[in-house]
This record gives sequence, structure tokens and C-alpha cells, in this order.
Amino acid sequence: MLLKHTPKEIKERNALTINPAKTCQPIGAMYAALGIHGCLPHSHGSQGCCSYHRSALTRHYKEPVMAGTSSFTEGASVFGGQANLIQAINNIFTVYNPDIIAIHTTCLSETIGDDVNQIVGKAVEENKVPEGKRIMYCSTPSYIGSHVTGFSNMVEGIIREFPVSTGTKNRKINIIPGWVEPSDMREIKALAKTMGVEIIMFPDTSDVMDAPQTGTHEFYPRGGTTIAQLEAAGDAKYTLALGKYCSEAGAIALENKCGIKFKTLDLPIGISATDRFISTLSNIAGIPVPQSITDERGRLVDMITDMQQYLYCKKVALWGDPDQLIALTEFLLDLDAKPAFVVSGTPGKYFMERMEQLLGKDMGGAKVQNGSCADMFLMHQWIKNEGCDLLLGNTYGKYIARDENIPFVRMGFPIYDRVGHSYFPTVGYKGAMYMLEKILGVLMDKQDADSSEEAFELVM
Ligand code: SF4
Repeated sequence: MLLKHTPKEIKERNALTINPAKTCQPIGAMYAALGIHGCLPHSHGSQGCCSYHRSALTRHYKEPVMAGTSSFTEGASVFGGQANLIQAINNIFTVYNPDIIAIHTTCLSETIGDDVNQIVGKAVEENKVPEGKRIMYCSTPSYIGSHVTGFSNMVEGIIREFPVSTGTKNRKINIIPGWVEPSDMREIKALAKTMGVEIIMFPDTSDVMDAPQTGTHEFYPRGGTTIAQLEAAGDAKYTLALGKYCSEAGAIALENKCGIKFKTLDLPIGISATDRFISTLSNIAGIPVPQSITDERGRLVDMITDMQQYLYCKKVALWGDPDQLIALTEFLLDLDAKPAFVVSGTPGKYFMERMEQLLGKDMGGAKVQNGSCADMFLMHQWIKNEGCDLLLGNTYGKYIARDENIPFVRMGFPIYDRVGHSYFPTVGYKGAMYMLEKILGVLMDKQDADSSEEAFELVM
């Protein structure tokens, strides 16, 4: 009983988070920055923050994550971090030679009130930024929002720095994929290619956070959106923002800067959300959906039909990031399962509105909460009181899974104790089949484990 102190009795809390269902803003900013080719993320704060952000990403992706830090000490904490950041910019370009430095702030530099825009301007004035090199930045105070907010803020930073409108449109469609795995970004690109739609995706962490082992360490792996692609994004004919929390702010910024219309869709996880993604892409590009994608969908429908008996009315507890939870909730409803408990540590009104649209009035009886007090402790209390059949969320659910003996499928960020998430997509129809296989696998394992000898079946 690892969580033996979690009581069943639920008391109202307003100012205490226990085991949060989120992490800190700069981690998201760092992940987004890694999706730009030749980019070195830089954490403007103390070394401890940067170590934590890097190690969180390294543990999840099982890849080395490079990043710089302004290495604040007591002096910088009192007088501000300008001198440290200018020195860091000079050192990074001299020693590590990236094409771009992506600076994000931390709680400490935000509390001091460092103006990164002004500091970068001063670095340019002092010739610390070599010809052709670029700096982008965003503000990521971690006492508001979450890693999801940080991702969104860095996407806005990308838009501020790169896209330019030349007045001549290209035929491309921008896709802001949201915080998904490199495998998902690869799958979205593959779907667009199969459809014959030319896209510019940013950020794109495929071939960065899932780079192949070649025997040679590449400081800047071959993946990531290039500067040329980012600049061309300003002439695209349309933008699709996948996931309101991670991507919409970037799409709005791009519309304001370059006049590109956009549409926000849910992450294409599950059958309904993928249907909307594919049909929107097809409509915008004016290209019909090819038979191979229709066939993929058909195989998913077949699998759902065959296995529906194992999913019907199964009570599911979910936690994590709002964009993923929204898509997963809809997918579970499509499977005839029952999202019963949902928590997201990321605040924002839209989450509750969208969940009500999906689940119905009063959340259809489900318990749903987001914001700072929507944490793993509350989730555990709900489960202790009412029970559930399946857990779906990041690694932090393993304590509840063990204590309560509930089947558990890992999904979201972070996943520290399993592999596969960065290699096998969960978006698209193939991704939905992969999710379904994982869900059915743990439910059937549980059924096998709990069956009496007479009821133990070879064929299920
Ligand atoms: S101090 Fe702030 S930015 Fe640094 S690790 Fe903690 S929450 Fe994140």
C-alpha cells in the first residue's frame, strides 16, 4: 500500500495540491523548442530548474536532451539575470554553434522581472548574435498554467520570430500538432502525404526525440522544422491547430501576423476526432480522402465491433493534459466505455465546457475537475469510493494501479517506466487501433487473472 494515507473521505480544498496532474511550464517550452531544427533550448534561471526540465524529457523520451542555463546564483537572483543571459548567448553560439537559441524563463527570472526581449536586443547590439543566427523566446512563469501552457507559449514564440508574409501564397497547410509524441507527428505527416496534401508542421520532434541509433552522437539531430519552413509558414493557405490548449494561441498569433485563417480541432486521437481531422484536411486542400485511409478506418471499425463486449460500460479514470483528455473521452464514449473520473492539473474554462459537450449535462454523472486542486490524490479518493475498471494516464498512476489492483494503460506525459510511446502513434486510425489493443490487453489480462478455473477461457 504505497498510498495508504489516502483517505476515502473527501474534504474541500482550495489552496493545497497533492500529487499534481501537471508539471512545470518550461518543460513544455523546451519540448516545443526541440521540434525546431538546429535549436538549442535555453533555460533562463538556475541550474536546478534546467536539470529538472532536461531530466523529465530525457526520462520520458529516452533520448539525451541538450539545453543551456543562465546559471543564476545569489547575485543574479538579486540584481537580475541580464549579464548571465548575454554571457550565455555568447558562449552558446561560440561553443555549441546552434542555428537558433530558444530562451524560456523560469519562476525565478519571472519573479525578478527580467525582460528577455530587451536582453536579447542588447545581445544583438553587443554583437553576441552571429550573422544568420536566430533567437526566439517566451515567458514561462511556472506558478501559473502548466507544461501545456509552456508548450503553447513557445509555439507563440516561434510565430513571433519566423513566419513572414511575402504577399505570394504557397499551397501549403500549416499544422500545429500540439503536444504529442514524435511518433504522432510522424503519423500526421504520413497521413497528409498519403492524401497528397503539402503541409508545414511545427514544432516537429520526429527524428529529434526518436532519432535512430547510428553509433554517432548528433548534437543537432536531422529532424525538426527548418527555418526556411517556418518562414514559409507565413505564406501558407490555412492553419490547422490541433488541440485548443497547446496550439490555438499560436494559430491566432499567426493569423494576426500574416493573415492566415485557421481552424482548431481536437487532437486526432480516436475515431471521431480523426474523422474530423481527415475530412477537414481533405476539404481545405480540395483533395478527396484516398481509399487506403478509408480502409484503415474500416479496419478500426471492425476491431471495435469485434471487441465491443469487453469495453461496454467499463468505468475509466483518466488524468493528464486537457487536449489529450478531451480526445480520449470522446474515444472512450465511441467504444461504449464510461469515462467516470477525469482530472487535469492544467487550468482553463474551455476544458469543462468541452467535457460537458461530450459527456452531456452535469457531465453525464462523471466526476470531472481541472485546475490546481484537480490532482492524483483526489482521483485516488474518487476511485476508493466508487471503484473503476481501467486507469488511463501518465506514469504517476502506477501507485493507484498497484494499491487498488486496477488495469492501467500509460498515456500522456510523463511516462518514465515503459517504452513505446515515442515510437507507436496514438493519433489517426492506426493510433486508435494501437490504443484499443493496449486497453483490451490489460482488461483481458485482468479477466484471465480473476477467472476461476472453470471460467478460464482459451478463446476470448
Ligand atoms: S522553480 Fe519553477 S521553473 Fe524551476 S523547476 Fe520549479 S516550477 Fe519549474
